[in-house]
Amino acid sequence: MRRAVGLLGGLLVVLILLGVERPRGLGDVVEVRHWSYPDYTRIVVETTRPVKLKSEIHRLGPNQRANRPERLYVDLGGLWVGRKYTQGIKLGDGLLQGVRLGQNTLSTTRLVLDLQNYERHRMFTLPNPDRVVIDVYGRRESSGREAPARRMPADRRKTKTVVIDPGHGGRDPGALGLYSVREKDVTLKLAKSLGSKLEDLGFEVLFTRKSDRTMRLEERTAIAEAARADLFVSIHANAAPRRSVNGIETYYLDKNHERHSLTVAARENGVSREQMNDLQKTLAKLRVSELSGYSRHLADLVQAELVGGLPRRYRVKDLGVKKGPFYVLFLSDTPAILVEAGFVTNKTEAKRLRSDAYLEALADRIATGVARYRDSGQRVARQGAS
Ligand SMILES: [Zn+2]
Repeated sequence: MRRAVGLLGGLLVVLILLGVERPRGLGDVVEVRHWSYPDYTRIVVETTRPVKLKSEIHRLGPNQRANRPERLYVDLGGLWVGRKYTQGIKLGDGLLQGVRLGQNTLSTTRLVLDLQNYERHRMFTLPNPDRVVIDVYGRRESSGREAPARRMPADRRKTKTVVIDPGHGGRDPGALGLYSVREKDVTLKLAKSLGSKLEDLGFEVLFTRKSDRTMRLEERTAIAEAARADLFVSIHANAAPRRSVNGIETYYLDKNHERHSLTVAARENGVSREQMNDLQKTLAKLRVSELSGYSRHLADLVQAELVGGLPRRYRVKDLGVKKGPFYVLFLSDTPAILVEAGFVTNKTEAKRLRSDAYLEALADRIATGVARYRDSGQRVARQGAS
């Protein structure tokens, strides 16, 4: 295999020297981004069109002769990078030395990760904008500083930091409803109100956004991961073609889900129903089930407060706790839920969602649900961990 890599590299040099032109119809690399977290490093390659993963990730041992460390590589089909990244991006963060991208064949770009410390990885693709995400997990080499202790989600008494994620924002208005109600405004107001209630209850609160700005879904999770958040709460409002549809539902991430969840998840992920198929395949490979017991428990408590604890004049329909494939809930070890706080397409709920008093009542209930999660002593069965 190593030899094949060398040969292909050689072939590429020859092609470039011959001045071979770039074939038509290929996508481009827009940007390579990276984040270093306590337990893993995330690499995101944004492209102008969907990438075909030509294979799983391959792992190569160190090559002392070529002065190369242990590496991971994957071939991305239909992609042109030319020589833009042959020098690579240096990381040296204890897990990765760096990232390189090179034109491997005329229509394939090879992504190479030079490793420092490696335990495992996960890879998935996300559309809109198209990107390939690779997370590399491992033990960081000590940098003199003590590594923070790994959080145990089971010990909920220590639940302290909550990341609140107001859905959409900026160029993405989210669902557009009656009376000019826009989801992005509802989510931001509700999130801010929730933040101050949680602070009153002794939590530390972080927001993915505090203003009307556009954010990628992986940026949102990045904030939670970097903060080593104990909980992640994403706030959304629902929409339906039929105006009569109303009610509140709370989601958590799970491999299994019903058909209705797919429609909601497609809208919240900003992708088509067709693109959701790929996401489901990705999800099937990820280790999401380990946390779903905790997320489910949190979702149950929040949903119960929302549908049972609001002042009487605000009776709402209980649409239940559901499983759904939401990108924004792809967190490595943080229980996470997504609240759909009502339908902006329903007359009664759109009116309510415009009112600060109602949003405050909702925030109060969500905060109470989160506090009950922290305060509940009983153990939650780790569903699907076997
Ligand atoms: Zn939404």
